[in-house]
Amino acid sequence: MSRRPLHIVTVSSEVHPFAKTGGLADVAGALPQALARLGHQNTVILPAYRIIDRRKYNMTETGQTITCTVEHSRHSVKILKSDHLPGITTLLLDHPAFSDRPELYGTATGDYPDNAFRFALFCRAAIELIETLEQPPDVVHCHDWQTGLIPALIRCSPGRKTFWAKIKTVFTIHNLAYQGVFPKEQYALTGLPEKCFALDGLEFYGQVNYLKGGIFFADRLTTVSPTYAREILTPEQGFQLDGALKARENILTGIINGIDYSEWDPVSDKYLTLNYDQARTANKNTLKRILYKKLGLVHSGNRPLLAMVTRLAGQKGCDLVLEAVDELVELGCDLAVLGTGEQRYHDAFGQKKRLYPQNFGLCLSFDPALSHLMYAGSDIFLMPSLYEPCGLGQMIALRYGSIPVARKTGGLADTIVDYQPSSVDSNGFLFDGFNSPELVSAVKRALQVYRKKEEWSLLARQAMSGDFSWDRSAMKYQDLYYSLLSYK
Ligand code: ADP
Repeated sequence: MSRRPLHIVTVSSEVHPFAKTGGLADVAGALPQALARLGHQNTVILPAYRIIDRRKYNMTETGQTITCTVEHSRHSVKILKSDHLPGITTLLLDHPAFSDRPELYGTATGDYPDNAFRFALFCRAAIELIETLEQPPDVVHCHDWQTGLIPALIRCSPGRKTFWAKIKTVFTIHNLAYQGVFPKEQYALTGLPEKCFALDGLEFYGQVNYLKGGIFFADRLTTVSPTYAREILTPEQGFQLDGALKARENILTGIINGIDYSEWDPVSDKYLTLNYDQARTANKNTLKRILYKKLGLVHSGNRPLLAMVTRLAGQKGCDLVLEAVDELVELGCDLAVLGTGEQRYHDAFGQKKRLYPQNFGLCLSFDPALSHLMYAGSDIFLMPSLYEPCGLGQMIALRYGSIPVARKTGGLADTIVDYQPSSVDSNGFLFDGFNSPELVSAVKRALQVYRKKEEWSLLARQAMSGDFSWDRSAMKYQDLYYSLLSYK
């Protein structure tokens, strides 16, 4: 069959800019738009959370109501519509389980106790809604555990077979650490037959695992980088699902995410007071001065600035950086950290700031405007992650000519090419072991090049010229959809 435009329905519990807690939202917002640029029809489905600004996103009632039964109780879900994403039909599922909560998944005291119900309802209502669409989809693309029941319900509910016979499902895992695991007693909420509570179904050490619904019943599985796709098959990084994933290895691929160049581009970045490009980087030096001033650091001219913009979590290698700070300052580096997260890291980085007030800049908040200046004003970007499914930070840093020093894992291994003199592909510095001596020695290699100005500018130009656009990633997803539908 020759290729024709497809109708792709994306189902996700978060979509940028409506609602976001992490990278999942970026993908669910940007990928449909990139697919639309390739000529495909796109519908996006998400919950109508209370935090979503209904006026800002022009959300209107469609008049349609979906009724579904979740474990003997009937629920009415109103369908709202937004035209905010250009060229995309965005449909939002309005029910008190979403619109009566201040957050998406839980509060500081923990996850909402009825998340098994909330996302069972989301999946059930999404399926019912898809069945009423004027134009049935070719592909339903589900993301993460919150949508894991969808492929399972489609394939295992006897009454649904006819409508879904030709429709393919794709399930993308963004971070295997989050699986949606609930007590066995809540299995009835899923609406799945008893036989699906099995090893090759949703059973997980006596509990219910929503992610496994996606893993075992989707037609194709993807994750967000080729290296991560291999890593999650190992006991070290499989989060107890490596066996399940190995059973589905033949349908699993890794596709790297893109970054949104309309937001992340030093040539046009609206957060920056000055712009720059590969050919003219003088403004980058001025932005470095501005950043020093903002962080209260003393700018001495030739000290490189090493930056981190990150969640402060063990996964991100905060312990490695904390251990290395003294030596890095001794080596002649300044450091800047922008992040929020675990209290122990707030305290430990705070201590380093007090120890090196002139050389260590610290901002413990979530600050998008400052993050742009951090990428632009730094020389080196640190990402010593324990694991990194894809990672956006390194791709943004590359675009801004801030050279990544990163651990060779997941998406970092797929986007950073370790420095070799006179290699035209090199764009950063990689190290293997998750320990601070290896981080420091990678920084030392970077410093050797940093001190040879011409070599460093060449490396920065190479870094900035990489293509990490969504258009590139969307082509890969498009190929995957076509191969699934047996188009040439
Ligand atoms: P993850 O999704 O695991 O947190 P990524 O590297 O994929 O890590 O994405 C992190 C994104 O969040 C980047 O765009 C980064 O700039 C942004 N970010 C992280 N922490 C902060 C912060 N404190 N302030 C502003 N932006 C932040």
